[in-house]
Amino acid sequence: MIEVTLLGTGSPMVDPNRAGPSTLIQAGDQRFLVDCGRGVLMRAAALGVGAANVTALLLTHLHSDHITDLSDVITTRWVTTFTRTPLTVIGPPGTSAVVDATLSALAPDIGYRIAHHADITEPPAVEVHEFTDGVVWDQGGVKILTARTDHRPVEPTIGFRIEFDGTAVVLAGDSVPCASLDALATGADALVHTAIRKDLVERLPQQRIRDILDYHSSVQDAAATAARAGVGTLVLTHYVPPPAPGQEQDWLALAAAVFDGRIELGDDLHRVEVG
Ligand SMILES: [Zn+2]
Ligand SMILES: [Zn+2]
Repeated sequence: MIEVTLLGTGSPMVDPNRAGPSTLIQAGDQRFLVDCGRGVLMRAAALGVGAANVTALLLTHLHSDHITDLSDVITTRWVTTFTRTPLTVIGPPGTSAVVDATLSALAPDIGYRIAHHADITEPPAVEVHEFTDGVVWDQGGVKILTARTDHRPVEPTIGFRIEFDGTAVVLAGDSVPCASLDALATGADALVHTAIRKDLVERLPQQRIRDILDYHSSVQDAAATAARAGVGTLVLTHYVPPPAPGQEQDWLALAAAVFDGRIELGDDLHRVEVG
């Protein structure tokens, strides 16, 4: 069994009730944070999970809303662990440069804490691994594969397939439908996909917001990917616009018209057991 918890279901639009995009995957005693948007550690704390408990941080892409709290994850991991405990970060090419720049921005803080705490003698240890495809993790019964997604002009972007104990969960991130995502998701038990209501967004007057239409999946697009891949469960997240109370049924109906499996969406901390 793999547990999927939507830590943050929000978007760049600041919402008092939805943290930025991030999903926690628990597979046995391993915990993977997939993206680290606004407020991620506050939501993880509600589950009793701290930065020190994260096995690895997986990044689907480097759009700011998906990495807003990278500095918080790095710093909190550093100051709440008492032996050298490197943070493993797995992401697309470009991740190392972003991590290095984040550490540069933290340089004053790193200096203060090393000067102040006798037992902190080193800067945060972060191990970055960049991939666009193939096996990115194979430890303790958990195997993680990645493949390219299509979120152009943001590139490269990647999705993850996490396999444990005969169960597979795929995290698409932000993407329009594409063959490599279909292949990654084929036969998985669940697909976690970001989705926007194109029928609502296209009516908005601001072109700046309508710009998002061409590089995200609609609810129906995500459902069609789930149907083609033959997954059992579709989990939608990163909602634009966020469903108001009572509107979740509309989202479910749009997806159910295309995909006849289990469909899950909800508020932050919505949890789905898979397998
Ligand atoms: Zn994005
Ligand atoms: Zn996004």
